[in-house]
Amino acid sequence: MQRFSLLINGELREPVSGAWFSTDNPYTSQVWAEVARADAADVDLAVSAAHQAFTSGPWSEFTASQRGMLLHRVGDLIARDARKLAEMEVRDNGKLISEMAGQLNYVPQWFYYFGGLADKIQGAVIPIDKKGYFNFTRHEPLGVVGIITPWNSPLLLLAWKLAPALAAGCTVVIKPSEFTSTSTIEFARLFAEAGFPPGVVNVVTGFGNEAGQALVEHPLVRKISFTGSDQTGRRIGAQAAQHLKHVSLELGGKSPNIVFADANIEDAVNGVVSGIFAATGQTCIAGSRLLVQASIHDEFVEKLLALAATARLGDPMDAGTQVGPVTTVPQYEKILSYIDIAKSEGAKLLMGGKPASGGACGTGRFVEPTIFGDVFNHMRIAQEEVFGPVLAVIRFADVDEAVAIANDSRYGLGAGVWTRDIGRALRMSERIQAGTVWVNTYRAVSFMSPFGGYKDSGLGRENGADAIYEYLQTKSVWINSGAPTGNPFVMR
Ligand code: NAD
Repeated sequence: MQRFSLLINGELREPVSGAWFSTDNPYTSQVWAEVARADAADVDLAVSAAHQAFTSGPWSEFTASQRGMLLHRVGDLIARDARKLAEMEVRDNGKLISEMAGQLNYVPQWFYYFGGLADKIQGAVIPIDKKGYFNFTRHEPLGVVGIITPWNSPLLLLAWKLAPALAAGCTVVIKPSEFTSTSTIEFARLFAEAGFPPGVVNVVTGFGNEAGQALVEHPLVRKISFTGSDQTGRRIGAQAAQHLKHVSLELGGKSPNIVFADANIEDAVNGVVSGIFAATGQTCIAGSRLLVQASIHDEFVEKLLALAATARLGDPMDAGTQVGPVTTVPQYEKILSYIDIAKSEGAKLLMGGKPASGGACGTGRFVEPTIFGDVFNHMRIAQEEVFGPVLAVIRFADVDEAVAIANDSRYGLGAGVWTRDIGRALRMSERIQAGTVWVNTYRAVSFMSPFGGYKDSGLGRENGADAIYEYLQTKSVWINSGAPTGNPFVMR
């Protein structure tokens, strides 16, 4: 049995308590590794190491250009090890090797982009309104950042936070999901090889209510950057407020994919299927509500069912597999319970709706690609995040109704619009309350383009040049360049 230790101050360490937990492969349901179970004592060691590195270690002396060079070097090492890291992710979270290999080949771009940005962050000279004074600003790193990630794309979502945090000059303590810890440990080891000093990148593996909570509550952590469910996000936001920490929250979604009658139907069917069944629906941006214009509803649904029925379920390590298993046992149970809820609400099961087993599915945790018709937007299946391969199909009559349904959600992460009318596409992109709107495409993301949620989908933005400011604070410096220091009791 492989064992994965904590990474603290450049060393692999056993947990203080001596406790370990197991991690399984969702395709075989077999335990394949043991992972260190960190608690508050380990978190304290990691945060202290990160604090020391930030305040007095060699990292604190590095110029922004030197940080940028290290980020480039680690990008090269990630590219070198991309296949190995992708295979580890597949073993731990069951997502397809075809998707994970693509993701891991793309992850180095975050380190190249933010590495290039590191020495281009400049303060300003303010044309101050007082004679004899010179005023300028500097952007300084926040300090120790706690990074908390979910299980669905462990390394990609980590890169979104880690690259800008390090470019800004922060040091970090990472708490990966207890379901998918192993790739993060292997990934973090590359930073020492690239030349990052000890203590700059630390990893504490363990459970949310132990290691995670200890990280959020640690007084030396200045910021929590979190991706996960909105329930946990609310809790972390409230705890961060108690400790007056900065916080960014990337949370869930119930994203509408809206197909107008004038759309290219074939493209739209492809986009809708990949929007909900890619990654077994386990993505925050899953297009889990399909809004179809009534005049093409029946034709569209027929084509959708025909394509979805061709999905090949099976071994995620097999390059020909199109839908993999569900990553965790609780998630598997949650998906099946939402299928029951949808049925009891009166939605019409058009396809799937059961666990899939045997054949290529082996002993894995599979759920059939599932499509419900006759869904109304007030139903729980249209309002609550399932985070699985379950699509809810809703009809609309016209643009106004499409907008009303799309926005009648507490979430606002993504939305798709399928139309050949550019004017309508632009108006929809204005009216939809979501952090990302895709027109005639779905699921595109890039290190260059801001990503984040409206409403209950979160706070803050990742990706794009502004993301580095999530890890910086602004200092204003005043210099008296000749103003008389006069009577202290006379206000000027
Ligand atoms: P989760 O909220 O259960 O866990 C996320 C992380 O938080 C894990 O590392 C967990 O250990 C930790 N955690 C749990 N309780 C904690 C606590 N009290 N204090 C500190 N840390 C704690 O989410 P999940 O099930 O791992 O991930 C799925 C969710 O993530 C979905 O809701 C999905 O929409 C969301 N997600 C959002 C984005 C985005 O960018 N907006 C991306 C991917 C996933």
